[in-house]
Amino acid sequence: MKPVQCEILEVELPFRLKFKHSLHERSTSSSVLVRMTADTGDVGWGEALPREYVTGETVRSVVDVNENHLWPILQENRAASWEEALDFAKNLEKKARERHPGLPDRIGSARCAIELAYLDLAGKHFRRSIGEIFGQRKREWIEYSGVISGDSLMKVTKTSLKMRLGGLRFVKVKVGGRDDKERIKRIRFLMGPKADIRIDANAAWNVTEAIAAIQSLKQYNISSIEQPIPADDYEGLQALTHAVTTPIMVDESLCSMTDARKLVTLDACDYFNIRLSKCGGIFGSLEISDFARNQDKGCQLGCQVGETAILSAAGRHFAMGVAGLKFIEGSYGTHLLEQDISKEDLTFHRRGIGKPLHGPGLGINVIPERIEPHVTCRHQLGDDK
Ligand SMILES: [Mg+2]
Repeated sequence: MKPVQCEILEVELPFRLKFKHSLHERSTSSSVLVRMTADTGDVGWGEALPREYVTGETVRSVVDVNENHLWPILQENRAASWEEALDFAKNLEKKARERHPGLPDRIGSARCAIELAYLDLAGKHFRRSIGEIFGQRKREWIEYSGVISGDSLMKVTKTSLKMRLGGLRFVKVKVGGRDDKERIKRIRFLMGPKADIRIDANAAWNVTEAIAAIQSLKQYNISSIEQPIPADDYEGLQALTHAVTTPIMVDESLCSMTDARKLVTLDACDYFNIRLSKCGGIFGSLEISDFARNQDKGCQLGCQVGETAILSAAGRHFAMGVAGLKFIEGSYGTHLLEQDISKEDLTFHRRGIGKPLHGPGLGINVIPERIEPHVTCRHQLGDDK
């Protein structure tokens, strides 16, 4: 099996509602979808959501890195077995760096998009599931977290009630506004004492502000604080981690293995937020989660706002297969998107539960007709048939 065609689609999938946090507000997904075809006729799908304020990547850079660095390597390889295909996927970035030492450190989104398409393709061809990459399943089901965006108190009340009624036990709240304390107080009251509530400030504070905010919210039993201060302030993160007892989670500060090593060396956090589209797809994220486990750092599997069933499926396999994840986000599907793009419904429902996916590759069937109306640009990377 040899990949011969790679099409990158820029897609704006409409949301049912606006999603807001301290760095951005959006009402469409701004996704990059990859459709890869093999000489055997098999087709695989990949996805990434490049965010300049997270990895520094843009849609343009994702197309460029794939066109000039990753796709040419994949295209050279003919995989005779599933194991061989996994080996190619795993070493893709390493090989690209050997050829082009000047590649930027953070190419996680670019790698994620093309890696997922290749793994889905290989899985479909060799009739193997991406879930098999992780060995034995670590859990029978997943309990996803709900996310409450940086909205008004009234909207927050409505969302909290909906989540409580839906039986969600884990909630992440976007903070960094003036009424954080009011909002968290309300959410704790509505969700009840047993709910696990954590917060994400998306770099809204400086160290002093973060310490004050954390102290004032402590009474509401917050289980972790994500990215309280700007991503590049590693010394600040180090000071903060040592100044407060609530665990500090890094998100925008953690995009690559270089970042992971630096954070561990400085002991600048307690938890890593790993997101497939940020950390280099399945193999890039797996490398970071293995490293975290060896270094006694906890991990959350996070997601990007607006992921389709492609990244939901990849995340589902990852969450089923990786041991010790503290929190799991993803599979928001039609909670956020007007329509998802696969035949299977991956959106979590009651209690936030997600079940294992079966079937080859990602275990989903993408419906191209649902994507087509929202394509804003397409790039054909190459065909050597
Ligand atoms: Mg975050």
